[in-house]
Amino acid sequence: MLFRSKKPTFSITLARGAVESIFDECDKYDADETGGRLLGTYRHQGGRYDIEVKGVLEPGPNAQRSPTYFLQDGDHQEKLFRAIEVSHPEIEHLGNWHTHHVNGYPTLSGGDKETYFRTVNHAKQNTDFWYALLVVSKNRSGNPRYAVKHFIFRRGDDAIYEIPAKDVRLVEAPPLLSPEPAVDRAEPHDPRLQHRQPSAPNPERAKDQEFFSEFFPGLKALLAKASGVPYWKGPLTLVDGSLAEVVTMEDSADLARSYSIATSCKNPVIADILAQYKERKFRSARHAVLHFERDLNQALYRGTKG
Ligand SMILES: [Zn+2]
Repeated sequence: MLFRSKKPTFSITLARGAVESIFDECDKYDADETGGRLLGTYRHQGGRYDIEVKGVLEPGPNAQRSPTYFLQDGDHQEKLFRAIEVSHPEIEHLGNWHTHHVNGYPTLSGGDKETYFRTVNHAKQNTDFWYALLVVSKNRSGNPRYAVKHFIFRRGDDAIYEIPAKDVRLVEAPPLLSPEPAVDRAEPHDPRLQHRQPSAPNPERAKDQEFFSEFFPGLKALLAKASGVPYWKGPLTLVDGSLAEVVTMEDSADLARSYSIATSCKNPVIADILAQYKERKFRSARHAVLHFERDLNQALYRGTKG
């Protein structure tokens, strides 16, 4: 006979100090999404997971936010985590938290799910589960300050487990201290800075990837055959319901790594915008797409009114 693996069970324990620091962060951002990483310990035995969140990593000074988008400052968090690991070697990175109360979406987005399935099934993922804590609304009563939901993803499992409140416990404990990150000691005359190679990995690419997969899944990353230059291509749905096929390309000759954008759409209403964008450069593909989309929509909107 076939042996079916038993349905997994979960319990989650949260240190109150960690939860309070999540809510403190939420209080700072009431229009844009924010978030951070969840740290702690866990036990996994025979399909039972006991997860204890003991601290959080702040999003970091270079985190990027919008009402529908949040990207953590991974470099900063890596430094914080390494510093914590020294005094707490048992601590693991258990998952992430982020907010939706600012956009009103009451559960994980399609992009969130895609990202978390990819993360938990990644070869370099150190745990066989991923814990996603989502802040879904602000409580008028203020106690607790926010309503949250808890989701667990497992490696090799297509299910998403939402953990009911009865299986989530708060314990009175302060958050793990996150010490100041080691200061980067690179001096301005550091020769490493002067010999930065143009072939160094471009950090914007990974951020673009994450952003497009969540908010513009129609845009695909491609590689120009002749030059090996990466570009993004796909349809934008505009305010009048029309589709504009756009291409945004990295300028590999430019050490500052600028991006340009263009469309094959020939609507005369947007002719002026297209002319302007021939000259414009952006620091990432997502910046290019967001500005372009907004300007095209404004032109179309004005065009229909004029
Ligand atoms: Zn989300």
